[in-house]
Amino acid sequence: MTDTTAHPLESVRAEFPFLDHAEHRPQLAYLDNAATTQKPRCVLDSLVDQYVTANSNIGRGFYELSRRATGRYEQARATVRRVLNAACDEEIIFTRGTTDATNLLAETFAARIVGPGDDIVVSGMEHNSNLLPWRRLCERQGATLRVVPTAAGRPVQPDALAAELSPRTRLVAVTHVSNVLGTVNPVRDLVRVAHQRGVPVVVDGAQAVPHLPVDVREIGADFYCFSGHKVYGPMGSGVLYGRRDLLVDLPPYQVGGGTVKGVSHDAPVSYVPVPARLEAGTPDIPAAVALATALTWLEGLGREAVRAHDAHLVRSAVQALGDIERVRVVGDPAADPAGIVSIAVDGLHPYDVGGHLDRHGIAVRSGVHCASTFLDDLGLVGTVRISFAVYSTVAEIDRLVAALRTVRAGEW
Ligand code: PLP
Repeated sequence: MTDTTAHPLESVRAEFPFLDHAEHRPQLAYLDNAATTQKPRCVLDSLVDQYVTANSNIGRGFYELSRRATGRYEQARATVRRVLNAACDEEIIFTRGTTDATNLLAETFAARIVGPGDDIVVSGMEHNSNLLPWRRLCERQGATLRVVPTAAGRPVQPDALAAELSPRTRLVAVTHVSNVLGTVNPVRDLVRVAHQRGVPVVVDGAQAVPHLPVDVREIGADFYCFSGHKVYGPMGSGVLYGRRDLLVDLPPYQVGGGTVKGVSHDAPVSYVPVPARLEAGTPDIPAAVALATALTWLEGLGREAVRAHDAHLVRSAVQALGDIERVRVVGDPAADPAGIVSIAVDGLHPYDVGGHLDRHGIAVRSGVHCASTFLDDLGLVGTVRISFAVYSTVAEIDRLVAALRTVRAGEW
């Protein structure tokens, strides 16, 4: 948040106890927000409050406290539904994160529709979490995984997707925002192309929800997943949105408590409707409640203000990094900024650059970012990824740039 917005940056930063902790201030510049974000006080308070004032299990208790916990959990679902503009609460499944959501879909939705000789289409820029569940399923079912070729910094082109679709394509899985280069894909157009051929689409929104307003009905995707911890919410929280007509008759992903109407020794098991059918066992209730708190908090900042802040940081970083000898910005993150800038430093391995920055108190991610197939296609051993959040500052970019000017081979 720049000081030109309604939310001065200093007051936003003041909401994050992590940033103010004696071990972090002023020396740490945390620029690894695509890996996970820090948590505002309201999210931490929400977690504690849930444990202190309403801790009990949901759904199964005929007493006030359990009803309270159930009410808060379902209220959290309603909040997520509203934020994503889903049609009804049943379309929101709480998961442990994006990885959990894509695996759920592979083992339930996709396992039923993908058979020998069929194919699943993914883009060339997928994170392993939106690649390996489909790849494993294809291997198991005798199907083929097809990959839409993707150039550095270029969004996945609808025409390129159309070219990969075959009469045997059963599913398309694509990321909304690349976790490596920050490229924003035209998911609405990609969904349209797939739907024209009758193919359902899974969108990985892990890097989108923290930065872009996401309206699942406008995008039109059949499924949309994201992780709570990347959007100022707790670890181990996440969401799978699915169109109700597709979710209703999915088989359970895991079976156990909370998923059944009743079990007897000799009758077939009958399962409860979604969402409970897809949330076996005791969920992380405080995490779901606090995730809703995080989304509401982010909304309160104003999604346009968040976009403007991202754009300011990304463009400032791209400009400043471009002036450093041997540093190359990979792709075109300033074209449609989504909080991520990846760089390569000539003659230096990304791990060495990351280690150098760490010695200057700057936390960035180095390597292949769980997307080694994409890095291979880019012809890179990895990148150094700088990723921003609502509390990131231009002063941190200045420190990063100063530290990069002094990185030398053989220093480590
Ligand atoms: N998809 C993308 C684009 C990601 O960036 C990540 C995490 O980095 C994931 C999926 C996996 O998220 P999680 O580890 O929270 O399940």
